[in-house]
Amino acid sequence: MRQSQLFTKTRREAPSDEVSKNAQLLIRAGYIHKEMAGVYSYLPLGLKVLNKIENIIRKEMDKIGREILMPSLSLQDPWKQTGRLDTVDVLMRTVGANELSLAKSDVSYVLNYSHEEIVTPIAQDHRQSYKDFPFALYQIQTKFRNEARAKSGILRGREFRMKDLYSFHCDEEDLLAYYEKAKESYRAVFDGVGIGKDTFITLASGGDFTTGFSHEFQTVCEAGEDTIYLDRANNIAYNKEVVTEENAKKLSVDFDSMEQVKACEVGNIFPLNIKFSKAFNYTYKNEKGEDQLVYMGCYGIGPSRVMGIIVEKLSDDKGLVWPKSVAPFAAHIVSLGDSEEVKKEAEELYSTLVAQGVAVLWDDTDRRAGEKFADSDLLGLPLRVVVSEKTLAAGAYECVERASGTTTQKTQSELTDYLAHA
Ligand code: ATP
Ligand code: MG
Repeated sequence: MRQSQLFTKTRREAPSDEVSKNAQLLIRAGYIHKEMAGVYSYLPLGLKVLNKIENIIRKEMDKIGREILMPSLSLQDPWKQTGRLDTVDVLMRTVGANELSLAKSDVSYVLNYSHEEIVTPIAQDHRQSYKDFPFALYQIQTKFRNEARAKSGILRGREFRMKDLYSFHCDEEDLLAYYEKAKESYRAVFDGVGIGKDTFITLASGGDFTTGFSHEFQTVCEAGEDTIYLDRANNIAYNKEVVTEENAKKLSVDFDSMEQVKACEVGNIFPLNIKFSKAFNYTYKNEKGEDQLVYMGCYGIGPSRVMGIIVEKLSDDKGLVWPKSVAPFAAHIVSLGDSEEVKKEAEELYSTLVAQGVAVLWDDTDRRAGEKFADSDLLGLPLRVVVSEKTLAAGAYECVERASGTTTQKTQSELTDYLAHA
């Protein structure tokens, strides 16, 4: 895309009411637009990143489940049936905004914060014999939560994106086998988006679903709101909430010897067991024709939070730094000066890369070099390709890797080769 055709512009200053690093940088670079605390619009560049993250998740989830799309609105009935209408402290409800609207319908709906109440009846409608199990359904969708603290930019939204997967099994053993598979898929996701080496599987409270633990995926990050006890040698962590003497004994671990670090929860997997199947009386017929309760697991990842974490962890004082796998474009062509030759060369390079299917952004604007470079650093695309009278004379472009700052000279064929393998 030509930068002159990009809808957004960068800006020097972050809005004064925005305290989080991720939102400050993403707003300055024109990736997102703030609507209110915890609610953001995704602009062209931001949407590209979010979509890439979601597609990396989708690719892994398609190996272990079927994608569906459930609504954000639901009746209150299923929430009453599980008892969660009165107990979930972030649950929101919506109703017609004025008399005209209320005259049409005065039903008040729940804005779903999670989808156990919706997915369980769907599963029940299709699968009721032991031969139908196991199976898993997932979606990538917008969630609503009445979060108290919404000062963390896209790390904590009141409206945000979630991938939620639900698995269904005949017994606990099968659930646990699937649960281990889901852990592997999560690993692949976090490796894929570039935060794998700082993301640790973390024992956390099982909530009211199980007497055991749930497993969080926690990314070590100063901006995180959680504290984890990290056992690096064994590549495992413990959420502070489970650090008790009783658990130390139960797990035979020594919490005192572990490193305490700030972390942000990017994923969470739960053995739900029979909590929701019981609420909806979701049973299947076993081989003897007897009714048995279905075992369930649920597995969440927040793609918009993952995007925020990438910004928090990888950006530097000049701006954003995107891993190749999620960058909105693979390369940023920056052409300098107003020589016709340079313009022709940049245009030719741009067309060649586009024809080869490389996602490339070309700064075709008439601005000073300093301004273009500052802009380019802020946008954070993995490779900057400078086209100028100097590079024309040298017969090679100046290529700068955003993450490392490494500068190399590349001829057009070397560059296309590099980008084809990037
Ligand atoms: P937290 O403890 O941070 O409030 P949670 O435990 O309530 O999160 P889950 O219900 O486990 O969150 O949701 C699954 C995933 O959805 C989380 O691991 C996280 O990645 C993401 N997520 C949860 N709440 C938010 C939010 N308010 N904004 C953005 N992402 C979120
Ligand atoms: Mg959680």
